[in-house]
Amino acid sequence: MNIEQLLVELSDGNKIPQIGLGVWRASQEQASAAVSHALTSGYRHIDTASIYKNEEGVGLGIKKANLPRDDVFITTKVWNDSQGFALTQASIDASLQRLGLDYVDLLLVHWPLPDKGLYVETWQALIDAQQQGKVRSIGVSNFNEDHLNHIIAETGVSPVINQIELHPYFQQKELRACHEKLNICTQAWSPLGQGQVLEDTVISKIAIKHGKSPAQIIIRWHVQLGNVVIPKSITPSRIEENLNVFDFELDGSDLALIESLDRNQRIGPDPLVFG
Ligand code: NAD
Repeated sequence: MNIEQLLVELSDGNKIPQIGLGVWRASQEQASAAVSHALTSGYRHIDTASIYKNEEGVGLGIKKANLPRDDVFITTKVWNDSQGFALTQASIDASLQRLGLDYVDLLLVHWPLPDKGLYVETWQALIDAQQQGKVRSIGVSNFNEDHLNHIIAETGVSPVINQIELHPYFQQKELRACHEKLNICTQAWSPLGQGQVLEDTVISKIAIKHGKSPAQIIIRWHVQLGNVVIPKSITPSRIEENLNVFDFELDGSDLALIESLDRNQRIGPDPLVFG
């Protein structure tokens, strides 16, 4: 299969494929099989994290697909118990070892944990790792506007991406506007609302209209908003389906209908209190 994969340019000049495969809650074996299937089906972007406990599986899947290293974009994240400069450095080295890679393409601070007060120090360790060539691009996840402004003010280095919960029931309009202002790319986690938005009747109607599946409608909506998106599946047919969204376009009325679904309803925790 040869599916066009849009590349989004980040503020540091590196490029990220707009659709990637998420692997949260996949075992080592499931992650390995899903990653190699995804890469042989046309995906070039995989999203894991040290807390997912499947980095070895992801690494095996990458090896199995046997693509040039430069052709794949791999993200991992520093978990909450590794915040602080030295622990973050150790966490990055351990992730690289588990993945079997010399560098990752994107490294994220997984959650800000504002009450711990360590995220600036943690961010400084990511800057350091980038200077050492262990990571090409650095970003954050689950940061709000204050957290973003704080790390930029303290270090002078802006994250290239903020990976946040974002789906039709939680559209994050204010934070997306903030990202635009700061030239930070918006990456959507739980882009399908962990499957919950797939049953929505508005989405089903748009799916029938275009002869596409509900998942394809939601992923196409993200693509047209300009989000980088990382739907998760370990089912081969669904992995392929989720990338196959470049042969149709949502029109203005489809987009307005999906916009009307926003309920400001999170599935995951609020970053202000999590941790
Ligand atoms: P998601 O919104 O991607 O939904 C995944 C679920 O949707 C799957 O388990 C499957 O049941 C269903 N699904 C997927 N494709 C389908 C299809 N074509 N047809 C029918 N059902 C389908 O949820 P997610 O896994 O929470 O989020 C995606 C990725 O985002 C994760 O795997 C992870 O990589 C990342 N993530 C990051 C954070 C963070 O804090 N940074 C938090 C959660 C998830």
